[in-house]
Amino acid sequence: MIHTYIKQLVEYGIDNGLLEPCDRIYTTNILLDMLKMDAYEDPGEVKKIETPSDLEETLKGVLDYALEKNIIEEDSVVLKDLFDTKIMNALMPRPGEVIGAFWEKYEKSPKEATDYYYHLSKVSDYIRTYRIERDKKWVVSTEYGDIDITINLSKPEKDPKMIALAGTMKSSSYPKCQLCMENEGYAGRINHPARENHRIIPIEIQGKKWGFQYSPYVYYNEHCIVFNGEHVPMAINRAAFEKMFDFIRQFPHYFVGSNADLPIVGGSILSHDHFQGGNYTFAMAKAPVEQEVVLKGFEDVKAGIVKWPMSVIRLNGEDSGRIIELADRILHAWRGYSDEAAFIFAETDGEPHNTITPIARIREERYELDLVLRNNITTKEHPLGLYHPWEEFHHIKKENIGLIEVMGLAVLPARLKDEMEELKAAILDKKDIKSVESIAKHARWVDSFMGKYGMVDESNVDEILQNEIGEVFKKILECAGVYKRTEAGKEAFEKFIRYVNGNI
Ligand SMILES: [Zn+2]
Repeated sequence: MIHTYIKQLVEYGIDNGLLEPCDRIYTTNILLDMLKMDAYEDPGEVKKIETPSDLEETLKGVLDYALEKNIIEEDSVVLKDLFDTKIMNALMPRPGEVIGAFWEKYEKSPKEATDYYYHLSKVSDYIRTYRIERDKKWVVSTEYGDIDITINLSKPEKDPKMIALAGTMKSSSYPKCQLCMENEGYAGRINHPARENHRIIPIEIQGKKWGFQYSPYVYYNEHCIVFNGEHVPMAINRAAFEKMFDFIRQFPHYFVGSNADLPIVGGSILSHDHFQGGNYTFAMAKAPVEQEVVLKGFEDVKAGIVKWPMSVIRLNGEDSGRIIELADRILHAWRGYSDEAAFIFAETDGEPHNTITPIARIREERYELDLVLRNNITTKEHPLGLYHPWEEFHHIKKENIGLIEVMGLAVLPARLKDEMEELKAAILDKKDIKSVESIAKHARWVDSFMGKYGMVDESNVDEILQNEIGEVFKKILECAGVYKRTEAGKEAFEKFIRYVNGNI
């Protein structure tokens, strides 16, 4: 069978434009070497790899062979991922070829270039589409619009043995992090993913070298990462706004946003300057301005407060320079702003709390920038953060509300998938949820909504659970909003706008 798998892979490479037909013998021989084989017999006609699951199946065949021959020492997802990435790289064009093809297409249109590169990132198995397809996704309608929910199942869970093994490894500073340029082509280790089949598009941002790539976990369509060519920490400042607009000018069909630059309200990688973008319209982008405001001296920039559970100021105009200027002044004002009555403190004990999650896009040929006001203060009642998912919602999510959530896509922990199945069974069996240890934490929540629905049975229980998770996520976003959607919250928000006007 191994000869069949080799042929299937080589033909797959040719069919998907990774290889030329004249690369057939060369690539076959490279694969033979990786599999420690010294001869090849053409198996004749083989089944084509046409879908992601076909590719998964063929790679599984190769991995089983490698395990049997001791080329892979142990049946672990970590070791198998390291090996099949190396196999896929044998089918890949070199970076120079990919970069050349990208910019040639870019000449015609940026969209053609990104279409090509996104396709390449998937067929190369850098994005493991067959895993992404296992993610659970649904949409919940709320008064703020249609909110996306996903339970991410595509990040492989490491087995305890590999975690233990990784713990004994010498720490390495190469590459410095998963966002560094040096990941391109890197074979990986037990504690660092293999990136041999990864190709980075070098771009220029504000005259500096940056990289453009897709996220291997694609939380939404064409989820891309734009990252500094150097391993330098991220910061939200005027330069960040300038970089973001520089990117969307080059890729006008993409939005781009940044996580905030403080713990609790920021993302998971603060150590490497980067943005995330993509080709997707989130609920927040669709949400309308519910109250226009005028910022003194910037009457040419439309400004308003967005109808959204978090506190968002939207700027829109023809001149990106003017938007950047105004955004910088709002940021500056916010960094130093305290309002005791609204429980907003710029700092406590010398620790700064105020920052912004910014998102830039082009809308109908005008530039637009959403500034989401953030504060990472903790209190005795909310030790993980006051503007963070409150404890009563931790049974659904307790992780940070980062850029992606802010925009209206809940990324929920993998554990919820099994818990939802157990909850469903318990509800249908009319069991006392409190008495089932693994799901007891959901008992109060289930009690709170069961009365709303008359009949709960097999036909509607999934939908009810999904909707109620959406309701919880909406409340979590409201927790993260520094100004609550009450009369008092609205007045406090207006007070901040007046403060900005007083300081311009
Ligand atoms: Zn780095």
